[in-house]
Amino acid sequence: MTFKGNLTLIFSLGLNLDHEIIATMKSAYWYVSMLVVAFVYVYLTAIQYVRGFQVDMNYHKYVDMTNVLFNLNRAYPNLTSIYSIGKSVKSTRWLQLIAYRDLWVIVVSKYPHHHVKGLPNVKYVANMHGNEAVGRELLLQLAAYLVTNYPQDDYVRHLMDNTRIHLMPSMNPDGFEAAIEGNCQGTVGRGNARGFDLNRNFPDLFKENRKEEQLETKSVRDWLSKIQFVLSANLHGGALVANYPYDNSPTSLFAAFSSSPNLTPDHDVFKHLAEVYSFSHAIMFRGVPCMRNSQVFPNGTTNGAAWYPLTGGMQDYNYVWNGCMEITLELSCCKYPSAAELTSFWNDNKKSLLVFLGEVHRGVKGFVTDEYGNPLEGAEMKVEGRDIGFKTTKMGEFWRILLPGTYVMQVVADGFEIKKQAFVVADPQPVWLNLTLFRPSSAAVRPGDFDLINAGAGSSLFRTPEFAPLMGPPPPPPPQLQPQSASLLRNFQVGFRRMFGWMG
Ligand SMILES: [Zn+2]
Repeated sequence: MTFKGNLTLIFSLGLNLDHEIIATMKSAYWYVSMLVVAFVYVYLTAIQYVRGFQVDMNYHKYVDMTNVLFNLNRAYPNLTSIYSIGKSVKSTRWLQLIAYRDLWVIVVSKYPHHHVKGLPNVKYVANMHGNEAVGRELLLQLAAYLVTNYPQDDYVRHLMDNTRIHLMPSMNPDGFEAAIEGNCQGTVGRGNARGFDLNRNFPDLFKENRKEEQLETKSVRDWLSKIQFVLSANLHGGALVANYPYDNSPTSLFAAFSSSPNLTPDHDVFKHLAEVYSFSHAIMFRGVPCMRNSQVFPNGTTNGAAWYPLTGGMQDYNYVWNGCMEITLELSCCKYPSAAELTSFWNDNKKSLLVFLGEVHRGVKGFVTDEYGNPLEGAEMKVEGRDIGFKTTKMGEFWRILLPGTYVMQVVADGFEIKKQAFVVADPQPVWLNLTLFRPSSAAVRPGDFDLINAGAGSSLFRTPEFAPLMGPPPPPPPQLQPQSASLLRNFQVGFRRMFGWMG
């Protein structure tokens, strides 16, 4: 009994001892684990602080791209904001039209959350053709570069203090998911999920575009109608050239067989903008063709129609209907090169991506008000000798990129006398031009007295926040200026080019 009792006691004590030891060990283990986690966290935070926010040089599928954008926003909430302009379209076996992936935009600026009166908005849009992938990654790198260099880089700080930069890494996220890394040519993933080429899907100045409007296109059109963008570039791949409007030509038999230039009233400015990009690029300005026998682009620039005319392109739409100077950048001979080459592409394009955005601070800007200082929204403006119009915003703001020279600005608004004002543009700062319109004592002036191309209804609606939620009626269909013709020839031409897969 005693022996048994002792055994029980010893056993009981041993068990208690074990429990205590295990509990102590568990506690120690927990503390050590916490210390390791804390150390790793501090170490990683310190690295991130020293190096800045880094985006890995790799391709990011939709989920990864979304994570990068939101992580960037979390790390720099005072310099970035994120919004979606809408959804991509996804076709399924059962349902032909469902909203699917967000078309994300990250704003990078000292003022990311709201429009600031007088501050211009600029944008880059990439990956409109889903298999042209380099631009998508360049914009993620650019966003990270801007926020991490804001404190110490004078140029970056000046740019972000005086500009709101909107970056859309992918306008065609569904196409990208289908595209294949390493495919330099071809069209797999070029179109959206329904196979539509988005850069043939916009209203066109020269020919009627009968393509069914896609959700991505409509989202972009709504976006452009809500924010007055001043400068923009659309990032593509499959060539190495900066391409400027017009992309299309008036219908003619000659135009159907050949590619002749079709220049805008702002040709000097567009050519300058394209050259700013190409000459800031590591190699684009050399104009070396991608392949033997492929087209040579002197200085690395071309007029779109001179290269090959296309109907329904986005850059012409930006310029004609929204008063935004947009060019198209072809950034890689290979549409979807290996991820190992991304560092090289970033190094080649970093300076040009930064310098191009600074061109928005050139030319003329100002406000149009009535005699009591109230802003006049939708006043129709035009620089004399340049027969293309643009409109003031809700706050009466306007911007126009111009090269140094002497100009006359014309303004007309419903119920006011026409105003003409001469001004001089000199480098390097834009000239301020504040215009006051007066009501006539008789014979009200009607807008439309100018022979202007309308810049699209609602082109000056600002909202805070701009894209949450999307509201309001869609913009009315743009005027169709000329009936479509020679479509068979056009289709043949496009089909021929597509067959060989070299369209950018
Ligand atoms: Zn393209």
